[in-house]
Amino acid sequence: MASALTDKLTRLVKQMRGQARITEANVQDMLREVRMALLEADVALPVVRDFIARVKEKAQGQEVLGSLKPGQALVGIVNRELVATMGAGVADINLAAQPPAVILMAGLQGAGKTTTTAKLAKHLVEKRKKKVLTVSGDVYRPAAIEQLKTVTQQAGAEWFPSTPEQKPLDIARAALDYAKKHYMDVLLVDTAGRLAIDEVLMQEIRDLHAALNPVETLFVVDAMQGQDAINTARAFKEALPLTGIVLTKLDGDARGGAALSVRQITGAPIKFAGVSERLDGLEVFDAERHAGRILGMGDIVALVEQVTAGVDQEAAQKFAAKLKRGDGFDLTDFLAQIQQMKQLGGLSSLMDKLPSQLSAKAGAMDMDRAEKDMRRKEGIIQSMTPLERRKPELIKATRKKRIAHGAGVQVQEVNRLLKEFEQMQGLMKQMKGGGLMKMMKKMGG
Ligand code: GDP
Repeated sequence: MASALTDKLTRLVKQMRGQARITEANVQDMLREVRMALLEADVALPVVRDFIARVKEKAQGQEVLGSLKPGQALVGIVNRELVATMGAGVADINLAAQPPAVILMAGLQGAGKTTTTAKLAKHLVEKRKKKVLTVSGDVYRPAAIEQLKTVTQQAGAEWFPSTPEQKPLDIARAALDYAKKHYMDVLLVDTAGRLAIDEVLMQEIRDLHAALNPVETLFVVDAMQGQDAINTARAFKEALPLTGIVLTKLDGDARGGAALSVRQITGAPIKFAGVSERLDGLEVFDAERHAGRILGMGDIVALVEQVTAGVDQEAAQKFAAKLKRGDGFDLTDFLAQIQQMKQLGGLSSLMDKLPSQLSAKAGAMDMDRAEKDMRRKEGIIQSMTPLERRKPELIKATRKKRIAHGAGVQVQEVNRLLKEFEQMQGLMKQMKGGGLMKMMKKMGG
Protein backbone atom coordinates (compact mmCIF):
# COMPACT_ATOMS: atom_id res chain seq x y z
CA MET A 1 0.00 0.00 0.00
CA ALA A 2 2.91 2.29 -0.54
CA SER A 3 2.27 3.50 -4.07
CA ALA A 4 2.39 7.19 -4.84
CA LEU A 5 -1.31 7.09 -5.47
CA THR A 6 -2.16 5.66 -2.09
CA ASP A 7 0.09 8.26 -0.48
CA LYS A 8 -1.74 11.06 -2.21
CA LEU A 9 -5.15 9.66 -1.47
CA THR A 10 -4.19 9.14 2.12
CA ARG A 11 -2.87 12.64 2.40
CA LEU A 12 -6.01 14.03 0.84
CA VAL A 13 -8.24 12.16 3.22
CA LYS A 14 -6.01 13.06 6.13
CA GLN A 15 -6.36 16.66 5.16
CA MET A 16 -10.08 16.25 5.44
CA ARG A 17 -10.36 14.37 8.66
CA GLY A 18 -8.82 13.94 12.00
CA GLN A 19 -8.46 17.62 12.73
CA ALA A 20 -10.98 19.03 15.11
CA ARG A 21 -10.84 22.55 13.79
CA ILE A 22 -10.23 24.41 10.60
CA THR A 23 -6.90 26.14 11.11
CA GLU A 24 -5.32 29.12 9.42
CA ALA A 25 -2.85 26.84 7.66
CA ASN A 26 -5.23 24.29 6.22
CA VAL A 27 -7.66 27.02 5.23
CA GLN A 28 -4.92 28.68 3.20
CA ASP A 29 -4.14 25.43 1.40
CA MET A 30 -7.72 24.58 0.67
CA LEU A 31 -8.59 28.13 -0.35
CA ARG A 32 -5.78 28.02 -2.87
CA GLU A 33 -7.53 25.07 -4.49
CA VAL A 34 -10.85 26.86 -4.43
CA ARG A 35 -9.33 30.00 -5.91
CA MET A 36 -7.78 28.00 -8.72
CA ALA A 37 -11.05 26.24 -9.41
CA LEU A 38 -12.88 29.58 -9.58
CA LEU A 39 -10.35 31.11 -11.95
CA GLU A 40 -10.44 28.01 -14.06
CA ALA A 41 -14.21 28.38 -14.18
CA ASP A 42 -13.65 31.89 -15.54
CA VAL A 43 -14.95 33.84 -12.60
CA ALA A 44 -13.58 37.38 -12.92
CA LEU A 45 -10.57 38.05 -10.73
CA PRO A 46 -12.02 40.80 -8.51
CA VAL A 47 -15.05 38.63 -7.89
CA VAL A 48 -12.82 35.70 -6.95
CA ARG A 49 -10.94 37.89 -4.48
CA ASP A 50 -14.12 39.07 -2.78
CA PHE A 51 -15.48 35.58 -2.68
CA ILE A 52 -12.36 34.06 -1.15
CA ALA A 53 -12.28 36.80 1.46
CA ARG A 54 -15.84 36.02 2.49
CA VAL A 55 -15.20 32.29 2.66
CA LYS A 56 -12.04 32.81 4.66
CA GLU A 57 -13.84 34.92 7.19
CA LYS A 58 -16.52 32.28 7.59
CA ALA A 59 -14.08 29.39 7.74
CA GLN A 60 -11.54 30.78 10.14
CA GLY A 61 -11.62 29.01 13.41
CA GLN A 62 -15.03 27.59 12.75
CA GLU A 63 -15.62 24.54 14.89
CA VAL A 64 -16.22 21.41 12.93
CA LEU A 65 -19.68 20.21 13.69
CA GLY A 66 -20.64 16.63 14.38
CA SER A 67 -19.08 14.15 12.03
CA LEU A 68 -18.01 16.78 9.53
CA LYS A 69 -14.33 16.90 8.86
CA PRO A 70 -12.45 20.10 8.04
CA GLY A 71 -12.32 19.36 4.31
CA GLN A 72 -16.01 18.67 4.21
CA ALA A 73 -16.74 21.69 6.35
CA LEU A 74 -14.83 23.97 4.01
CA VAL A 75 -16.48 22.45 0.97
CA GLY A 76 -19.77 23.13 2.72
CA ILE A 77 -18.85 26.75 3.43
CA VAL A 78 -17.70 27.30 -0.15
CA ASN A 79 -20.83 25.71 -1.53
CA ARG A 80 -23.14 27.69 0.70
CA GLU A 81 -21.34 30.91 -0.15
CA LEU A 82 -21.53 30.16 -3.87
CA VAL A 83 -25.21 29.42 -3.63
CA ALA A 84 -25.81 32.53 -1.52
CA THR A 85 -23.86 34.70 -3.97
CA MET A 86 -25.73 33.37 -6.95
CA GLY A 87 -29.02 33.49 -5.09
CA ALA A 88 -30.69 30.59 -3.40
CA GLY A 89 -34.26 29.76 -4.23
CA VAL A 90 -36.08 30.10 -7.48
CA ALA A 91 -36.58 33.51 -9.04
CA ASP A 92 -39.42 33.18 -11.50
CA ILE A 93 -40.40 35.67 -14.13
CA ASN A 94 -42.39 38.56 -12.75
CA LEU A 95 -45.60 39.36 -14.58
CA ALA A 96 -47.17 41.41 -11.82
CA ALA A 97 -48.14 44.44 -13.85
CA GLN A 98 -51.16 45.91 -15.52
CA PRO A 99 -51.28 43.81 -18.72
CA PRO A 100 -49.45 43.71 -20.92
CA ALA A 101 -46.48 42.92 -18.70
CA VAL A 102 -43.52 44.24 -20.67
CA ILE A 103 -40.25 42.33 -20.68
CA LEU A 104 -37.23 44.12 -22.13
CA MET A 105 -34.31 42.01 -23.34
CA ALA A 106 -30.83 43.52 -23.16
CA GLY A 107 -27.37 42.20 -23.91
CA LEU A 108 -24.52 41.98 -26.37
CA GLN A 109 -25.02 40.78 -29.92
CA GLY A 110 -24.78 37.02 -30.08
CA ALA A 111 -25.52 36.60 -26.39
CA GLY A 112 -28.73 34.79 -27.29
CA LYS A 113 -31.33 37.55 -26.88
CA THR A 114 -33.52 36.60 -29.82
CA THR A 115 -33.37 32.90 -29.03
CA THR A 116 -34.14 33.59 -25.37
CA THR A 117 -37.03 35.88 -26.31
CA ALA A 118 -38.62 33.01 -28.20
CA LYS A 119 -37.82 30.52 -25.45
CA LEU A 120 -39.51 32.77 -22.91
CA ALA A 121 -42.47 33.24 -25.25
CA LYS A 122 -42.85 29.47 -25.53
CA HIS A 123 -42.53 29.05 -21.77
CA LEU A 124 -45.18 31.69 -21.10
CA VAL A 125 -47.56 30.38 -23.76
CA GLU A 126 -47.29 26.71 -22.85
CA LYS A 127 -46.65 26.70 -19.12
CA ARG A 128 -48.39 29.85 -18.01
CA LYS A 129 -51.10 29.94 -20.69
CA LYS A 130 -50.37 33.56 -21.55
CA LYS A 131 -51.12 35.53 -24.70
CA VAL A 132 -47.69 36.66 -25.77
CA LEU A 133 -46.58 39.24 -28.34
CA THR A 134 -42.97 39.70 -29.43
CA VAL A 135 -41.37 42.61 -31.24
CA SER A 136 -37.87 43.37 -32.46
CA GLY A 137 -36.34 46.80 -32.04
CA ASP A 138 -33.23 45.76 -33.92
CA VAL A 139 -33.46 48.12 -36.89
CA TYR A 140 -29.79 47.70 -37.70
CA ARG A 141 -29.99 44.09 -38.81
CA PRO A 142 -33.05 43.24 -40.91
CA ALA A 143 -32.14 39.57 -40.48
CA ALA A 144 -32.67 39.94 -36.75
CA ILE A 145 -36.29 41.00 -37.28
CA GLU A 146 -36.88 38.02 -39.58
CA GLN A 147 -35.18 35.69 -37.10
CA LEU A 148 -37.53 36.82 -34.34
CA LYS A 149 -40.53 36.31 -36.62
CA THR A 150 -39.50 32.73 -37.36
CA VAL A 151 -38.79 31.70 -33.79
CA THR A 152 -41.88 33.45 -32.44
CA GLN A 153 -44.02 31.42 -34.79
CA GLN A 154 -42.27 28.26 -33.64
CA ALA A 155 -42.97 29.28 -30.05
CA GLY A 156 -46.69 29.62 -30.72
CA ALA A 157 -46.73 33.32 -29.86
CA GLU A 158 -47.68 36.36 -31.90
CA TRP A 159 -45.12 38.56 -33.65
CA PHE A 160 -45.48 42.29 -34.18
CA PRO A 161 -43.92 43.46 -37.49
CA SER A 162 -41.23 46.12 -37.60
CA THR A 163 -38.92 47.41 -40.36
CA PRO A 164 -35.38 48.81 -40.45
CA GLU A 165 -36.80 52.18 -41.58
CA GLN A 166 -38.59 52.74 -38.28
CA LYS A 167 -37.18 54.17 -35.08
CA PRO A 168 -36.93 51.68 -32.21
CA LEU A 169 -38.99 53.93 -29.94
CA ASP A 170 -41.80 54.16 -32.48
CA ILE A 171 -41.76 50.39 -32.92
CA ALA A 172 -41.95 49.85 -29.18
CA ARG A 173 -44.84 52.29 -28.74
CA ALA A 174 -46.78 50.77 -31.63
CA ALA A 175 -46.26 47.27 -30.27
CA LEU A 176 -47.37 48.32 -26.79
CA ASP A 177 -50.43 49.93 -28.25
CA TYR A 178 -51.29 46.82 -30.24
CA ALA A 179 -50.72 44.60 -27.20
CA LYS A 180 -53.12 46.69 -25.12
CA LYS A 181 -55.81 46.68 -27.80
CA HIS A 182 -55.55 42.93 -28.27
CA TYR A 183 -55.47 42.05 -24.59
CA MET A 184 -52.02 40.54 -24.66
CA ASP A 185 -50.74 39.34 -21.30
CA VAL A 186 -47.08 39.82 -22.12
CA LEU A 187 -45.03 41.92 -24.56
CA LEU A 188 -41.49 40.70 -25.11
CA VAL A 189 -39.19 43.35 -26.59
CA ASP A 190 -36.00 42.16 -28.29
CA THR A 191 -33.46 44.93 -28.73
CA ALA A 192 -30.55 45.76 -31.01
CA GLY A 193 -27.47 43.76 -30.38
CA ARG A 194 -24.21 45.48 -29.77
CA LEU A 195 -20.86 43.89 -30.29
CA ALA A 196 -19.31 45.91 -27.53
CA ILE A 197 -20.52 48.59 -25.21
CA ASP A 198 -21.64 51.42 -27.44
CA GLU A 199 -22.89 54.69 -25.92
CA VAL A 200 -25.43 55.42 -28.69
CA LEU A 201 -27.05 52.03 -28.36
CA MET A 202 -26.97 52.26 -24.59
CA GLN A 203 -28.87 55.52 -24.79
CA GLU A 204 -31.35 53.92 -27.13
CA ILE A 205 -32.12 51.09 -24.75
CA ARG A 206 -32.41 53.55 -21.87
CA ASP A 207 -35.02 55.45 -23.88
CA LEU A 208 -36.85 52.23 -24.63
CA HIS A 209 -36.88 51.43 -20.95
CA ALA A 210 -38.29 54.83 -20.10
CA ALA A 211 -41.05 54.56 -22.70
CA LEU A 212 -42.07 50.98 -21.94
CA ASN A 213 -41.73 50.89 -18.17
CA PRO A 214 -41.04 47.14 -18.25
CA VAL A 215 -41.79 44.93 -15.26
CA GLU A 216 -38.73 42.86 -16.18
CA THR A 217 -35.47 44.05 -17.72
CA LEU A 218 -33.50 40.92 -18.41
CA PHE A 219 -29.78 40.97 -19.09
CA VAL A 220 -28.92 38.10 -21.41
CA VAL A 221 -25.34 36.95 -21.09
CA ASP A 222 -23.34 34.18 -22.69
CA ALA A 223 -21.89 31.78 -20.11
CA MET A 224 -18.83 31.36 -22.30
CA GLN A 225 -18.00 35.04 -21.94
CA GLY A 226 -15.61 34.47 -19.11
CA GLN A 227 -13.58 37.36 -17.74
CA ASP A 228 -15.25 39.93 -20.04
CA ALA A 229 -18.64 39.27 -18.53
CA ILE A 230 -17.80 41.60 -15.69
CA ASN A 231 -17.34 44.67 -17.93
CA THR A 232 -20.45 43.98 -19.96
CA ALA A 233 -22.47 43.44 -16.82
CA ARG A 234 -21.22 46.66 -15.25
CA ALA A 235 -22.09 48.71 -18.34
CA PHE A 236 -25.61 47.31 -18.55
CA LYS A 237 -26.19 47.71 -14.86
CA GLU A 238 -25.19 51.35 -15.07
CA ALA A 239 -27.52 51.93 -18.02
CA LEU A 240 -30.56 50.01 -16.84
CA PRO A 241 -32.29 48.89 -13.66
CA LEU A 242 -31.85 45.18 -14.38
CA THR A 243 -34.37 42.87 -12.75
CA GLY A 244 -32.92 39.55 -13.82
CA ILE A 245 -30.25 37.67 -15.69
CA VAL A 246 -30.50 34.91 -18.26
CA LEU A 247 -27.32 32.89 -18.59
CA THR A 248 -27.18 31.28 -22.03
CA LYS A 249 -25.16 28.48 -23.60
CA LEU A 250 -24.71 26.58 -20.40
CA ASP A 251 -24.87 23.43 -22.50
CA GLY A 252 -21.40 24.27 -23.75
CA ASP A 253 -18.33 23.33 -21.82
CA ALA A 254 -18.03 26.65 -20.05
CA ARG A 255 -17.80 26.10 -16.32
CA GLY A 256 -20.17 29.02 -15.93
CA GLY A 257 -18.12 31.28 -13.71
CA ALA A 258 -19.82 34.18 -15.48
CA ALA A 259 -22.84 33.48 -13.31
CA LEU A 260 -20.95 34.47 -10.21
CA SER A 261 -19.35 37.53 -11.80
CA VAL A 262 -22.54 38.84 -13.33
CA ARG A 263 -24.61 38.21 -10.26
CA GLN A 264 -22.14 39.96 -8.01
CA ILE A 265 -21.75 42.98 -10.30
CA THR A 266 -25.42 43.53 -11.10
CA GLY A 267 -27.00 42.27 -7.90
CA ALA A 268 -29.84 40.99 -10.09
CA PRO A 269 -31.07 37.41 -9.67
CA ILE A 270 -30.20 34.83 -12.28
CA LYS A 271 -33.61 33.69 -13.41
CA PHE A 272 -33.03 31.34 -16.31
CA ALA A 273 -30.36 29.24 -17.93
CA GLY A 274 -30.20 28.55 -21.66
CA VAL A 275 -29.21 24.95 -22.21
CA SER A 276 -29.66 24.40 -25.95
CA GLU A 277 -30.33 26.19 -29.21
CA ARG A 278 -33.79 24.73 -29.29
CA LEU A 279 -36.74 26.67 -27.98
CA ASP A 280 -37.36 24.22 -25.16
CA GLY A 281 -33.78 24.72 -23.96
CA LEU A 282 -34.60 27.12 -21.15
CA GLU A 283 -34.42 26.10 -17.51
CA VAL A 284 -35.07 27.85 -14.27
CA PHE A 285 -31.64 28.63 -12.87
CA ASP A 286 -30.55 26.28 -10.11
CA ALA A 287 -27.87 27.89 -7.96
CA GLU A 288 -27.06 24.69 -6.07
CA ARG A 289 -26.39 22.71 -9.18
CA HIS A 290 -24.44 25.56 -10.68
CA ALA A 291 -22.25 25.86 -7.61
CA GLY A 292 -21.10 22.29 -8.15
CA ARG A 293 -20.38 23.00 -11.77
CA ILE A 294 -18.30 26.09 -11.04
CA LEU A 295 -16.11 24.42 -8.50
CA GLY A 296 -15.90 21.18 -10.39
CA MET A 297 -16.37 19.81 -6.91
CA GLY A 298 -18.04 16.84 -8.45
CA ASP A 299 -19.30 14.94 -5.53
CA ILE A 300 -16.47 15.54 -3.15
CA VAL A 301 -18.50 15.32 -0.01
CA ALA A 302 -19.90 12.00 -1.15
CA LEU A 303 -16.39 10.88 -1.95
CA VAL A 304 -15.14 11.62 1.50
CA GLU A 305 -18.11 9.87 3.01
CA GLN A 306 -17.59 6.91 0.73
CA VAL A 307 -13.97 6.54 1.70
CA THR A 308 -14.48 7.00 5.40
CA ALA A 309 -17.69 5.00 5.68
CA GLY A 310 -16.34 2.17 3.54
CA VAL A 311 -13.17 1.85 5.52
CA ASP A 312 -14.43 2.59 8.98
CA GLN A 313 -17.52 0.45 9.25
CA GLU A 314 -16.89 -2.71 7.32
CA ALA A 315 -13.25 -2.99 8.16
CA ALA A 316 -13.75 -2.03 11.77
CA GLN A 317 -16.25 -4.82 12.29
CA LYS A 318 -14.03 -7.43 10.68
CA PHE A 319 -10.97 -6.36 12.58
CA ALA A 320 -12.83 -6.12 15.83
CA ALA A 321 -13.94 -9.73 15.46
CA LYS A 322 -10.46 -10.82 14.54
CA LEU A 323 -8.82 -9.02 17.39
CA LYS A 324 -11.27 -10.59 19.80
CA ARG A 325 -10.32 -14.00 18.54
CA GLY A 326 -6.71 -13.02 18.87
CA ASP A 327 -5.89 -13.69 15.21
CA GLY A 328 -3.25 -11.81 13.35
CA PHE A 329 -3.54 -9.90 10.14
CA ASP A 330 -3.09 -12.30 7.22
CA LEU A 331 -3.12 -12.23 3.44
CA THR A 332 -6.86 -12.85 3.36
CA ASP A 333 -7.29 -9.54 5.17
CA PHE A 334 -4.88 -7.93 2.80
CA LEU A 335 -6.93 -9.24 -0.12
CA ALA A 336 -10.09 -7.93 1.53
CA GLN A 337 -8.51 -4.49 1.73
CA ILE A 338 -7.62 -4.53 -1.93
CA GLN A 339 -11.09 -5.67 -2.82
CA GLN A 340 -12.57 -2.97 -0.69
CA MET A 341 -10.70 -0.40 -2.70
CA LYS A 342 -12.21 -1.91 -5.81
CA GLN A 343 -15.62 -1.94 -4.22
CA LEU A 344 -15.40 1.77 -3.68
CA GLY A 345 -15.77 2.01 -7.42
CA GLY A 346 -12.21 1.82 -8.56
CA LEU A 347 -9.60 4.50 -8.32
CA SER A 348 -10.56 6.37 -11.46
CA SER A 349 -14.13 6.67 -10.32
CA LEU A 350 -12.93 8.06 -7.00
CA MET A 351 -10.77 10.48 -8.92
CA ASP A 352 -13.74 11.59 -11.01
CA LYS A 353 -15.36 12.75 -7.85
CA LEU A 354 -12.51 15.02 -6.89
CA PRO A 355 -12.43 18.70 -7.84
CA SER A 356 -10.87 19.07 -11.24
CA GLN A 357 -7.78 20.72 -9.80
CA LEU A 358 -7.10 17.72 -7.66
CA SER A 359 -8.06 15.14 -10.19
CA ALA A 360 -5.86 16.83 -12.77
CA LYS A 361 -2.97 16.28 -10.41
CA ALA A 362 -4.10 12.77 -9.76
CA GLY A 363 -4.35 12.24 -13.51
CA ALA A 364 -0.61 12.60 -13.70
CA MET A 365 -0.34 9.58 -11.45
CA ASP A 366 -1.65 7.26 -14.12
CA MET A 367 -4.84 5.81 -12.77
CA ASP A 368 -4.86 2.94 -15.21
CA ARG A 369 -1.56 1.66 -13.99
CA ALA A 370 -2.53 1.96 -10.37
CA GLU A 371 -5.72 0.07 -11.04
CA LYS A 372 -3.92 -2.62 -12.97
CA ASP A 373 -1.44 -2.89 -10.14
CA MET A 374 -4.30 -3.49 -7.73
CA ARG A 375 -5.78 -6.17 -9.97
CA ARG A 376 -2.42 -7.92 -10.22
CA LYS A 377 -2.04 -7.96 -6.46
CA GLU A 378 -5.46 -9.43 -6.17
CA GLY A 379 -4.52 -12.06 -8.73
CA ILE A 380 -1.39 -12.96 -6.80
CA ILE A 381 -3.22 -13.48 -3.53
CA GLN A 382 -5.94 -15.42 -5.28
CA SER A 383 -3.32 -17.80 -6.67
CA MET A 384 -2.34 -18.75 -3.13
CA THR A 385 -3.87 -21.62 -1.22
CA PRO A 386 -5.93 -20.80 1.88
CA LEU A 387 -3.11 -22.18 3.98
CA GLU A 388 -0.56 -19.90 2.30
CA ARG A 389 -2.79 -16.92 2.88
CA ARG A 390 -3.02 -17.71 6.57
CA LYS A 391 0.68 -18.57 6.92
CA PRO A 392 2.64 -16.48 4.41
CA GLU A 393 5.89 -17.64 6.01
CA LEU A 394 5.35 -20.94 4.17
CA ILE A 395 5.77 -19.19 0.83
CA LYS A 396 9.31 -20.06 -0.25
CA ALA A 397 10.90 -20.25 -3.71
CA THR A 398 8.86 -23.13 -5.19
CA ARG A 399 5.55 -21.81 -3.96
CA LYS A 400 6.47 -18.31 -5.17
CA LYS A 401 7.13 -19.67 -8.63
CA ARG A 402 3.82 -21.49 -8.68
CA ILE A 403 1.91 -18.43 -7.46
CA ALA A 404 3.63 -16.16 -9.98
CA HIS A 405 2.77 -18.58 -12.73
CA GLY A 406 -0.83 -18.80 -11.60
CA ALA A 407 -1.23 -15.02 -11.52
CA GLY A 408 0.71 -14.51 -14.74
CA VAL A 409 3.33 -12.27 -13.14
CA GLN A 410 7.07 -12.35 -12.39
CA VAL A 411 8.37 -13.80 -9.12
CA GLN A 412 9.65 -10.32 -8.16
CA GLU A 413 6.10 -9.09 -8.08
CA VAL A 414 5.14 -11.82 -5.65
CA ASN A 415 8.11 -10.79 -3.53
CA ARG A 416 7.07 -7.17 -3.62
CA LEU A 417 3.56 -8.01 -2.55
CA LEU A 418 4.81 -10.16 0.32
CA LYS A 419 7.04 -7.34 1.46
CA GLU A 420 4.18 -4.86 1.39
CA PHE A 421 2.09 -7.32 3.30
CA GLU A 422 4.79 -7.71 5.95
CA GLN A 423 4.94 -3.97 6.45
CA MET A 424 1.21 -3.82 6.80
CA GLN A 425 1.26 -6.73 9.23
CA GLY A 426 3.92 -5.01 11.30
CA LEU A 427 1.74 -1.95 11.48
CA MET A 428 -1.21 -4.03 12.58
CA LYS A 429 0.79 -5.68 15.34
CA GLN A 430 1.98 -2.33 16.58
CA MET A 431 -1.54 -1.09 16.74
CA LYS A 432 -2.98 -4.13 18.40
CA GLY A 433 -1.96 -2.83 21.78
CA GLY A 434 -3.29 0.61 21.11
CA GLY A 435 -6.95 -0.21 20.97
CA LEU A 436 -9.29 -0.51 18.08
CA MET A 437 -10.19 3.11 17.72
CA LYS A 438 -6.59 4.15 17.51
CA MET A 439 -5.98 1.55 14.87
CA MET A 440 -8.95 2.59 12.76
CA LYS A 441 -7.85 6.17 12.96
CA LYS A 442 -4.46 5.24 11.60
CA MET A 443 -5.96 3.12 8.90
CA GLY A 444 -8.30 5.78 7.66
CA GLY A 445 -5.87 8.60 7.74
P1 GDP B 1 -28.65 37.69 -30.13
O1 GDP B 1 -27.74 38.34 -31.11
O2 GDP B 1 -28.32 38.11 -28.73
O3 GDP B 1 -30.09 37.87 -30.46
O4 GDP B 1 -28.32 36.14 -30.16
P2 GDP B 1 -29.10 34.94 -30.87
O5 GDP B 1 -30.37 34.66 -30.17
O6 GDP B 1 -29.18 35.21 -32.33
O7 GDP B 1 -28.12 33.75 -30.55
C1 GDP B 1 -26.80 33.69 -31.06
C2 GDP B 1 -26.43 32.23 -31.28
O8 GDP B 1 -26.39 31.56 -30.02
C3 GDP B 1 -27.43 31.48 -32.12
O9 GDP B 1 -26.72 30.61 -32.96
C4 GDP B 1 -28.24 30.70 -31.10
O10 GDP B 1 -28.74 29.50 -31.64
C5 GDP B 1 -27.22 30.41 -30.06
N1 GDP B 1 -27.78 30.22 -28.71
C6 GDP B 1 -28.58 31.05 -28.00
N2 GDP B 1 -28.85 30.53 -26.79
C7 GDP B 1 -28.22 29.32 -26.73
C8 GDP B 1 -28.11 28.29 -25.72
O11 GDP B 1 -28.65 28.36 -24.61
N3 GDP B 1 -27.36 27.20 -26.05
C9 GDP B 1 -26.73 27.09 -27.26
N4 GDP B 1 -26.00 26.00 -27.49
N5 GDP B 1 -26.81 28.03 -28.20
C10 GDP B 1 -27.54 29.14 -27.95
